[in-house]
Amino acid sequence: MWRRKRVLVTGGAGFLGSHLCERLLEEGNDVLCVDNFFTGTKDNIVHLLDKPHFELMRHDVTFPLYLEVDEIYNLACPASPIHYQHDPVQTTKTSVHGAINMLGLAKRVGAKIFQASTSEVYGDPEVHPQTEDYRGNVNPIGPRACYDEGKRCAETLFFDYHRQHGLDIKVARIFNTYGPRMHPQDGRVVSNFIIQALHGEDITIYGDGQQTRSFCFYTDLIEGFVRLMATDKTVTGPMNLGNPYEITIRELAERVIEMTGAKSKLIFKDLPADDPLQRKPDITFARNTLDGWEPTVSLEDGLGSTIEYFRNLIAKHG
Ligand code: NAD
Ligand code: UDP
Ligand code: UDP
Repeated sequence: MWRRKRVLVTGGAGFLGSHLCERLLEEGNDVLCVDNFFTGTKDNIVHLLDKPHFELMRHDVTFPLYLEVDEIYNLACPASPIHYQHDPVQTTKTSVHGAINMLGLAKRVGAKIFQASTSEVYGDPEVHPQTEDYRGNVNPIGPRACYDEGKRCAETLFFDYHRQHGLDIKVARIFNTYGPRMHPQDGRVVSNFIIQALHGEDITIYGDGQQTRSFCFYTDLIEGFVRLMATDKTVTGPMNLGNPYEITIRELAERVIEMTGAKSKLIFKDLPADDPLQRKPDITFARNTLDGWEPTVSLEDGLGSTIEYFRNLIAKHG
């Protein structure tokens, strides 16, 4: 007998989680969004609340959760340095205890489970671009460690539940992703630059701006999530998902100024501790495994719609 798939999304009220919930509903699933609203907000999902196949639950994943589902996307975790360093112990607990609880749930009900891991598992990488077999260069006691090591330990747990209990796991290593619904105050570079430019304020570059990142628009990433989840059990990852188009932070600032028409100046501030110098995903594995998946939205188009989103947000709330 056919029935709707019941899909749990932890962190479903966040930037990526809310877009994922939307996509899963469009595909005809029953979607359960679990979030403690630390960095997520009801505003991100308010338009879904009256949909009969959407359900919202306030819950912290560091505590056990008993329900019946077919698939789990585990996204709960603050993602920006400002937020994950606000309460670093809670950040590690969210990644580690959260993973244990969601894996325990997946084991009990036989659900397939996806982990939102991160390019931060590579730390400040000595291999460029980063391939999945690179083991990383993370400072285990630095200010970013609560996030990086928490996510690394979560990966360990996923692979041990896979080996020990036969769980069907999908581990995605997500590279910098941006777009509408990014938290306006989370200090990530794309949102910071756009908001500064729209307010006509100076653009804050940390360090000399020669460090690089590769920015993926959220629609491309969500497509990768869904395709990875649909693979057969032999595909566990870890799999890089991101956009290989790499630019310097200075260049990003200049593009944002140009696209917003702002008169902002560039100002240079200290580079935060352990800030990676370069980052670019090698997506060969994803391309070969996910039916030729690759990002299709250019930085120009993605920045255009993100600027539009923040322009509207500022017009509404200041
Ligand atoms: P986000 O901060 O917008 O979303 C995270 C969500 O998790 C929020 O809604 C937050 O309230 C919720 N949350 C945090 N702690 C929780 C807890 N203990 N229990 C329940 N909910 C909790 O960030 P995002 O950018 O949407 O990131 C989603 C996931 O993707 C995160 O796991 C993040 O580490 C990962 N990721 C994101 C990026 C990126 O560039 N956006 C890159 C790499 C990895
Ligand atoms: N757990 C949960 N929901 C479930 C099943 C388990 O939250 O439906 C949690 C529970 O708190 C447990 C953890 O997941 O501590 C790990 O579960 P597992 O069965 O792997 O180990 P154990 O119960 O032996 O600790
Ligand atoms: N960054 C910056 N100005 C800002 C915010 C960030 O120059 O206002 C830099 C930051 O130091 C880093 C890069 O931009 O080198 C990306 O930062 P973000 O926090 O967005 O992501 P992550 O460092 O986690 O990749």
